[in-house]
Amino acid sequence: MNSFIAKDKEYVAGTYGRFPLELTEGKGCIVKDINGKEYIDMGSGIGVTAFGYADEEWTKAVTAQACRLQHTSNLYYTEPCALLAEALCQKTGMKKVFFSNSGAEANECAIKVARKYSAQKKGDEFYTIITLKNSFHGRTLTTLSATGQDVFHKLFNPLTPGFAHVAANDTQELINAVEALKPAGIMLEMVQGEGGVIPLDKEFVITAQRLATENDIPLIIDEVQTGNGRTGSLYAYMQFGITPDIVSTAKGLGGGLPISATMMSEKVQYVLGPSDHGSTYGGNPVCCAGALSVISRLDEAFLKDVRSKSEYVFASLADADGVESVSGMGLMIGIKTKGNAKEIVNKCMENGVLCLTAKDKVRLLPPLNIPMPALEKAVNVIKTVCKEIM
Ligand SMILES: *Cc1c(COP(=O)(O)O)cnc(C)c1O
Repeated sequence: MNSFIAKDKEYVAGTYGRFPLELTEGKGCIVKDINGKEYIDMGSGIGVTAFGYADEEWTKAVTAQACRLQHTSNLYYTEPCALLAEALCQKTGMKKVFFSNSGAEANECAIKVARKYSAQKKGDEFYTIITLKNSFHGRTLTTLSATGQDVFHKLFNPLTPGFAHVAANDTQELINAVEALKPAGIMLEMVQGEGGVIPLDKEFVITAQRLATENDIPLIIDEVQTGNGRTGSLYAYMQFGITPDIVSTAKGLGGGLPISATMMSEKVQYVLGPSDHGSTYGGNPVCCAGALSVISRLDEAFLKDVRSKSEYVFASLADADGVESVSGMGLMIGIKTKGNAKEIVNKCMENGVLCLTAKDKVRLLPPLNIPMPALEKAVNVIKTVCKEIM
């Protein structure tokens, strides 16, 4: 196969800092480049391919659906969409699901639900969504406004008004914001992913839930990255002892196809009515069939296995040379290294292991079903490189 880097550079918008790596095929946690070199994938396409590449069960579900009915629009009913919504509700206790195609869109829907709920209940002036500094909620103009990182805002002003950012884990600042603003919602990531793989303090999350309940403010949990088994529970909020009003999720949900979900609790289940929201592709049967195969396999035994792999990674890296600290939950892991994270990731790639970065950390989001021998091999490469580059 001829290299396609030059063509991509010429014709694809230059928004991505790509690695000089041309991927052609994969199986499980292994992906091959154009020269046939194999890599252990510790990034899963940014937490998307939850069961690795060309997973047998997933591929079967997706191809069977693609061969039967690939799209209908939301003017008609299709079975995969209904079954997936049922599975999500039964596993979370949520009551309704809206399907879209990306994390940003799932958050847009969550914001619309919170705003409409609060406008109807309290008045139009209750429109502000409180989010956190250092958060990440997406790239559309509204989710960019929700994102509490100024680096993403520059030159795209004016952003959507009605967002306020408070410091993560600063309970007093959150209390003050709830009192001073007229909030329509509070939106949190349980682990700030793009922000550096930093879990929130449990006490802060519980306070947020209490404030939300006392003041009748919908609590939105952004589980785009943390959801669908990634942190060792079906959704990360389940480990914080809270019951959100709205949960958005995407990335791992489709196992590699673009699908996102906004789940609504009893309190907000009837907020969206006819023509309040929509998406041409939303609930696409092929994507739903893939997601259904992912969700149906995330049972307690599987999640326990994710947690034990997580313990292994944390234990092996915690005291390793060149590693300052390890953060995260489940198989969503950030490594604060002594050496430069980007250099370390490049060197790992040379040595056959693909990793990600988040801020100044090395970030790992391996396939949830990565076999132990491959995980051990990858962790050893990472350890060796962290020791070399420091
Ligand atoms: C990736 C991510 C998003 C955006 O998802 P897209 O599918 O890229 O739109 C939103 N929120 C969080 C927490 C994410 O990690």
